Amino acid sequence: MTAAQQTIHVGGEWRSALSGATRDLIDPADATVFAVVAEGGVQDTDDAVAAARAAFDDGAWPRTPAVERAALLRRVAALLERDRERIGALESQDAGKTLEEGRVDVDCVRDAFLYFADLVANEDGGRVVDAGSDEIRSVVVHEPVGVCALITPWNYPLLQASWKIAPALAAGNTFVVKPSEITPLSTVVLVELLLEAGLPLGAANIVTGPGDTVGARLAEHPDVDLVSFTGGLVSGTKVARAAADSVKKVALELGGKNPNVVFADACSTPEGFDTAVDQALNAAFVHSGQVCSAGSRLIVEESLRERFVAELARRAGHIRLGRGTDEGVECGPLVSAAQLARTEEYVASALAEGAVLRAGGERPAGPGYFYRPTVLDRCHRDMRVVREEVFGPVLTVETFRTEQEAVALANDTEYGLAGAVWSSDEDRARRVAARLRHGTVWINDFHPYLPQAEWGGFGKSGIGRELGPSGLAEYREAKHIYQNLAPRPVRWFAGETQE
Ligand code: NAD
Repeated sequence: MTAAQQTIHVGGEWRSALSGATRDLIDPADATVFAVVAEGGVQDTDDAVAAARAAFDDGAWPRTPAVERAALLRRVAALLERDRERIGALESQDAGKTLEEGRVDVDCVRDAFLYFADLVANEDGGRVVDAGSDEIRSVVVHEPVGVCALITPWNYPLLQASWKIAPALAAGNTFVVKPSEITPLSTVVLVELLLEAGLPLGAANIVTGPGDTVGARLAEHPDVDLVSFTGGLVSGTKVARAAADSVKKVALELGGKNPNVVFADACSTPEGFDTAVDQALNAAFVHSGQVCSAGSRLIVEESLRERFVAELARRAGHIRLGRGTDEGVECGPLVSAAQLARTEEYVASALAEGAVLRAGGERPAGPGYFYRPTVLDRCHRDMRVVREEVFGPVLTVETFRTEQEAVALANDTEYGLAGAVWSSDEDRARRVAARLRHGTVWINDFHPYLPQAEWGGFGKSGIGRELGPSGLAEYREAKHIYQNLAPRPVRWFAGETQE
């Protein structure tokens, strides 16, 4: 790790904030300060954008052949592999996830770099368009957009950064990344690895600091060509508004209120029942529910409800909470005191609105921002806890009687990020999946994603896609080059030639 507090990287130099401001990072497992970082401001941001601009306009990276860009991305993947334990532990402490989750995150980050490396290395030099004449050579090529501002959240700090940094670099862009102010450390390390892998100076810049100054400045900055944002709906709409004046490209990955639809036939065998309950727990409570695609709305067939919810609540009560690095811990703390207070407030509002508490609903004794996995039964769409993203370990239960009703409930959200359907009837499962208005739909599963497959949301879950070929296309401009091999006058304006 770079020298303490020098967590801003501009044009090849690690530095402190120009103002000298710093921020304490809090270990959410015990609420103590464990690191101090630079608290950048508007001038730090402007400097970083200027460095990225110069590196794009005059630097080597945008003009580096695709195979060499791919080779650099592969070197980064190898460095991530080398530092897996160190970075996994850092992510675990900073974001409050278990050590194993931290390690898996690093593996997923590595895979994103490898995927985008392969994608650009295997491309041809453009798409030849048949112009209907031997005298015309018409080709569509794809070029980098320019300077990219990459703004990321705290729940998967490194993973979300990699879904932006890997394709941005693969396409030949330069960037300024602004990680969440409460979990910036792993992104600082990733920038160090990019430099170690040989990325030209100025191509990668980072400003650690708050959203309403550093993030807002990046979104409005006239020299930024694209802003890619992952975070909440409120901040995302601010980013889109700020970006509008300079007509920069905008990609938004926002929240979700994701349905997990369980038909009774999925649970007609003991194994089926066990699997559906197990995965419903995983859907809702992995990383204490601080997952954009968390299956926080269980929508279960009425005839199955009592048996399913009783078992779910029983098992939720046995989830072992604790510091992520401790042996046997299954769930870490929430990331901050604010996130804990928000979760408590949502549970209180649900209970006031008539929800029935079946598990959790309280903090355990002791330090840290822990909250017990919570199951709220008898919920309905008019409750805030059903409509709004809690981003904590809170699962609501709704029921349906018909397939039609299940689909209507699952689609009854302003979001549209992800959802699942559980059924042993393959036709029904596919029928329901086809009708769900969500960017990712799982059948008899929850949570897996593939770097080769697009990730993103319908509705207010966002604009654009990350991962897959579309995740690279976000960072490119299409350019049509039309070459006339036999130029001659067109005589549209014939008068001039008659004099
Ligand atoms: P947040 O919106 O508070 O912050 C996200 C980032 O935006 C941070 O870096 C923050 O500093 C910055 N920011 C805040 N205000 C800003 C502004 N006015 N202008 C520019 N930047 C600003 O979100 P969070 O609390 O860090 O993360 C949780 C949210 O992220 C949840 O809603 C979750 O669903 C979402 N998320 C979505 C995905 C996805 O793939 N769709 C993935 C992870 C997280």
